[in-house]
Parts: sequence; structure tokens; C-alpha cells
Amino acid sequence: MSEFAFELELCAHLERRDRDGSDSGRIVARQLGASVADPGGRILDVVLVEPGPDFGDRTSITSEAIPDAAIESDVGTGRARYWKTAFDCHPDHARRATERAIEIGFFERELRNGREYVRQVARYPRWYDRIVGIENKPDLDRPGDLEAQLRTDASLALVDEVVLATESYVTRAHLNRIPEAVGVWRVHRDEPTGLEIEVIREPTSLPVDGPGIEPLEYRPGRTEIAVVSAGEKVRARRRLAERAYGKGWRTYDFPACAACEPAESDGATLPHCSWAGRAVHADSECGPACPGHEPAPASTIDLDAERDRRTSWVADPAGKRRRQSGLDRFG
Ligand code: SF4
Repeated sequence: MSEFAFELELCAHLERRDRDGSDSGRIVARQLGASVADPGGRILDVVLVEPGPDFGDRTSITSEAIPDAAIESDVGTGRARYWKTAFDCHPDHARRATERAIEIGFFERELRNGREYVRQVARYPRWYDRIVGIENKPDLDRPGDLEAQLRTDASLALVDEVVLATESYVTRAHLNRIPEAVGVWRVHRDEPTGLEIEVIREPTSLPVDGPGIEPLEYRPGRTEIAVVSAGEKVRARRRLAERAYGKGWRTYDFPACAACEPAESDGATLPHCSWAGRAVHADSECGPACPGHEPAPASTIDLDAERDRRTSWVADPAGKRRRQSGLDRFG
């Protein structure tokens, strides 16, 4: 099983569990940045965001991730403000955030004497609650940077819980090598029942409200670190929740190959390849170099429509215009 196929099947399973009511309608997303001092230094494989009481207010604004600079700005819902004086960041960044916020329907604008004034269409709600990060490592015999990644998650404490998901048999030695706070799931893939999660160890809640330590570089004898303040973590958590809401996990393409037979897994349509016998990553695995490749039109299944139908994410809130894909600079 490739990590990619494992990840898609796990996301489909977690989404179905939430839809069936075993959990609480959480947002499932994949491949999101979860570091603060070193942006992009840590990418979480899967992120679960638990909705808070004001979730409905968030879904009614836009289907896209709202840029954090627009949320942080002094632009409110009352009197419109001249955009340039409403931001406390570089003007280029402020301009990009303003344009994006207008484009996705978070800001509305009016022109006065050739100047652009903006206001929020709705107050930004406190829409999310707990956030869970999942690190996928189907084969623990090939751990890669697993220990360092999980140590980063535990000491930074940006998410409320961290879980390691694997298909491997988990030994006491494996458990001893990872931080105690990290939960462990063993994932069983049994036909015809599909995927089942055996909880080997429950995760412990991390101290998300306080400052965190982010390891930056491990050198022999010493580790470079950054201290991340509680305030920076609040903003980073909001960015993470926003990106999860805007992006979700159906961020894959279907390969232009006759062997690709889109298949349902736990109610989600995955890019299953009959030649490989699993879901495949079109960009990195498919093409004329693959021995099973047979050119054919790629499937045109609308994955946004599927996400809209099967989750609490709303593709087209209150008839607002949906952004054309490919323009997302913040997601
Ligand atoms: S290119 Fe290869 S891996 Fe990709 S769908 Fe075709 S046969 Fe499968």
C-alpha cells in the first residue's frame, strides 16, 4: 500500500464515520502546514477540525479559505474603511489579502474619490473547536523522519491531539520511540468490510493555549529551536482551520489512463487503478513511462460537488459566486 493510497482511504473512512454520526461532522483535510517559526517545515498528513457552535456562520460566508491578514485587519462589518489604513502588514501583502477577500466574498468594496473602501460582509465567527493531526506511516519499518516529526508536534502543541496511523503491527519498542502524548491507530483493511481502526493508544490533549517549542534543526549534540508564543499559535491554528475548510482532502486528479477506474471507498470516489490494484497519484505515478499506461480521457467527476453532498462544507453559500479553481494563492 502506498502512503498516498493509505491516506485517501483513511480520509474517506474518517469522513464516512463523521457522516454516520460516530463523530461530530468534522472537516477532514490533508497535507497542511503545521509549523509556525519555519513555515512549511512540518506538513501534517491529515487534519480533522471539529466544528464549534458558530460553524453555520462560517459556512455561509464562503467555501474558500479566508486569508488570515483579512481576518486580522481592522476591516469590520460597520463603516467601510480605506483598505490601505486597515492593515498592519506589508502593503503588497495587504493588497493581495484585500483582493482575495473581495474575490471570495468576505469583503465587499465601494469606490470613493478613486479610493477603494472595504467592509466585511459578516463578522468572522469562532467556528472551530478542537483540531487533530494525523501522521500516516503505513509501514513502520520505513519510518523516515517519523520520530522527529512527532516530537515537533508534541513540543509545539499547535493541534489538540496527534495520532500516528499505521498498518504495521505496533510493538512496545515502536511505542517507546514516539512521544507519550501521541496516540496510535492500527488500520486494518479487510475485504469486504473495508477499513477498521484499532486504537492501540489514545492521544493525550496537548497544551495548545500556551507557548510552544518548535525544533528547527537537529545537529549532533544540539537542536536549534524557536519559542512560539501563545498568540502566534492562536493565529496559526486559525490559518490551519481555514486552510482545512477551504481545501478538504479531495485534492487529487484522475489520471488520463484507461486503467483508472474511479472507485467508491466509504462513499468517496478515489482514483483507483486496476493495473496497480490501488488508488494512484496521477502526477507522480502516471504517464507513458508506466507499463500499464493506456491513454484515455481522464474522469471528469466533480469532487467539489461530492464534498458538498457528503460533508458539512458548503460549496456555494447563499448563491455566492464560486471561485474558479487555480486562483488560490492562500489555500
Ligand atoms: S498510468 Fe499506470 S498507475 Fe496510472 S492509472 Fe495508468 S496503469 Fe495505473
